[in-house]
Amino acid sequence: MTTYPHLLTPLNLGFTTLKNRVLMGSMHTGLEETRDWNRVAEFYAARARGGVALMVTGGMAPNAEGGVFPGAAGLFSDQDISNHKIVTDRVHDAGGKIAMQILHAGRYAYSKDCVAPSPVKSPISPFPPKALDEEGIETQINDMVTAAVRAKQAGYDGVEVMGSEGYFLNQFLVSHTNKREDRWGGTYENRMRLPVEVVRRVREAVGTDFIVIYRLSMIDLIPNGSTWDEVVTLAKAIEAAGATILNTGIGWHEARIPTIATSVPRRAFTWVTKKLMGEVNIPVITSNRINTPQVAEDVLADGCADMVSMARPFLADPDFVAKAEAGQADLIAPCIACNQACLDHTFSMKIASCLVNPKAAHETELMLTPSQKTVAIVGAGPAGLSAALAAAERGMTVTVFDRATEIGGQLNMAKQVPGKEEFWGLVDYYRAAVAQAGVTLKLGHTATPDDLVGFDDVIIATGVTPRDPQIEGQDGPNVLSYIDVLRGGAEVGKSVAVIGAGGIGFDVAEFLVTGESPTENLDEWLEEWGVGDPETTRGGLRPEGPEPEAAIRNVTLLQRKAQKLGKGLGKTTGWIHRAALKMKGVEMVGGVNYERIDAQGLHVSFGEARERPTVIEADTIVLCAGQLPERSLADALLEKGITPHVIGGADVAAELDAKRAIDQGTRLVASL
Ligand code: FAD
Ligand code: NAP
Ligand code: SF4
Repeated sequence: MTTYPHLLTPLNLGFTTLKNRVLMGSMHTGLEETRDWNRVAEFYAARARGGVALMVTGGMAPNAEGGVFPGAAGLFSDQDISNHKIVTDRVHDAGGKIAMQILHAGRYAYSKDCVAPSPVKSPISPFPPKALDEEGIETQINDMVTAAVRAKQAGYDGVEVMGSEGYFLNQFLVSHTNKREDRWGGTYENRMRLPVEVVRRVREAVGTDFIVIYRLSMIDLIPNGSTWDEVVTLAKAIEAAGATILNTGIGWHEARIPTIATSVPRRAFTWVTKKLMGEVNIPVITSNRINTPQVAEDVLADGCADMVSMARPFLADPDFVAKAEAGQADLIAPCIACNQACLDHTFSMKIASCLVNPKAAHETELMLTPSQKTVAIVGAGPAGLSAALAAAERGMTVTVFDRATEIGGQLNMAKQVPGKEEFWGLVDYYRAAVAQAGVTLKLGHTATPDDLVGFDDVIIATGVTPRDPQIEGQDGPNVLSYIDVLRGGAEVGKSVAVIGAGGIGFDVAEFLVTGESPTENLDEWLEEWGVGDPETTRGGLRPEGPEPEAAIRNVTLLQRKAQKLGKGLGKTTGWIHRAALKMKGVEMVGGVNYERIDAQGLHVSFGEARERPTVIEADTIVLCAGQLPERSLADALLEKGITPHVIGGADVAAELDAKRAIDQGTRLVASL
């Protein structure tokens, strides 16, 4: 008897059967745009080998104006069909199934040629869209149908028609973006005509033995979004039009409510999908912040859906399902929902990958070949641990030293931050994985050069030391470092000044203002961000707006740079950190000079002329002024004539994060 009976039960679709209840949701990786079809094929084949029942590709444009950006991948020609066939063949050979997503971006397309139901510019795009006339709408439908037919010719098992997240079809559904007065606008029956017509004509064109998934926005999270009645009406009409499966979309891209970031509670929106269960007779898929087999199993056991969609977890670990089946859930590299290497890359026009798995989308380039070497690694932070796992995968004999009595390095501080609880799972995974890989761990052991003699390679991953900001009075009893606060459990007063507004300054501020973490309490989180039941409030936005819990301390966050605080935070998540602190009343002050600290608090002035002397009255001042490389052991080794490889913070501390540390550790070992 498996631990995940619901998750691992096949799903019979009549003309075909899915081997379990797991869908890999669509992700734009940027791979298709490289035109390296072998690389695309290997990406999907690795996930097919890992046991997922059905995968959905990144969005494919049906035509030039529907592309998310100029040059976005699509299926435009016979040559494209044979390229995509390389992918589908490789997936089928690996025992998998794959559907192609048809994504028309409408007014979200980053192009002056973008089209939409009405000329209403999106807040997240600089381009006002052109309103389509009747003929233009027919062209869009035909192009989407043609894309589906080509997908079938290319060997795909189905298509997913993207109808959520505020893209083209979604834009027809709500009066906020559809101001038309013809048969495509006005009443809801008219507004939903386009998505229903697309599904109907796609089904007509592809025949019965082909999967047609429709991704339906269950909760728009925008003003004047769909009502729940409209969602159900659409779902029934889409079923009648011939869809095989309904997938869930949560929130438009322009919504100001986080939907997939790490601070969003696990399975935060499965209760929404559950409302649709019983309303339609085709399978319903739920999604968002499902990242372990147990969470997925619980979602299904609770009757929230017939199937779960997980996307980013398959970047973190292509073998997610196979490991769940084998009873090795603790060896699944977890998606921590950080967005740092996936979405942040996509929005920077870089190939996506994964913070915890740099091989993701780099399968043909980052390979770990067999080796017999012996390797010593000092430091069991993310840099050292990733190096250790890569070395073990190569067959090397690995010894890891850490002066701490637990592995994880700074991840053990990150996990204390409210909203970053996923880091607990990452450290747990590393613990299980290094044990399973046979790595020798020497914890509570400060490594010396003598420990490191006799190994083929020595890797120094000793991390960082906090930067000394040299502020007068910083040795006083009212001054703490971020390490005292996050690790040492130091007592912190009711009013606090935080010096430094980098990633750690923001995290420390969050830690200091938050009582119980809303990430651990779904009802509180929904209240904090103003999410309501779509059955009672249009689009799922509570009329009273966000209602966060009161801050437990008064915090002022400071930096010397005269620019917006948090500018360097993650591209897709920085706004969430800023909004969360603002909601808690954290004051953000830039452009300061730190003059001195005394019993009154922190004395600052502004600008080069050191004007406007001001006292930030505070019981406690916390230093988060950046970090410097901890290289003392590396230097001592060099003196002894041993040349180590230096990685992570020990190499370069500036702009260091776990993504760079893990990537560097893995790549170094691949090159040894
Ligand atoms: P470290 O994690 O610092 O590990 C170094 C290890 O070396 C330590 O365990 C130390 O004990 C050991 N060591 C040092 N000298 C010796 C010696 N002589 N002998 C034996 N052992 C030794 N990054 C992100 O990407 N995303 C985030 O959301 C994020 N949040 C963070 C939140 C906080 C509060 C903090 C503090 C950091 C956060 N980071 C985040 C940064 C991330 O944790 C670091 O970039 C990363 O841990 C650096 O990895 P590392 O392996 O180089 O060093
Ligand atoms: P950081 O991002 O470099 O920020 C350091 C802060 O200290 C800045 O606000 C800087 O601003 C200030 N500072 C620098 N020198 C100073 C000085 N001499 N005196 C006073 N203030 C000074 O570093 P961090 O916050 O320590 O974070 C360390 C690393 O962990 C970062 O590289 C970060 O990427 C990573 N991290 C990432 C996340 C994440 O969510 N991705 C979260 C936490 C940490 P001014 O120079 O303007 O004063
Ligand atoms: Fe998940 Fe972060 Fe990896 Fe993206 S980069 S897949 S969010 S762990």
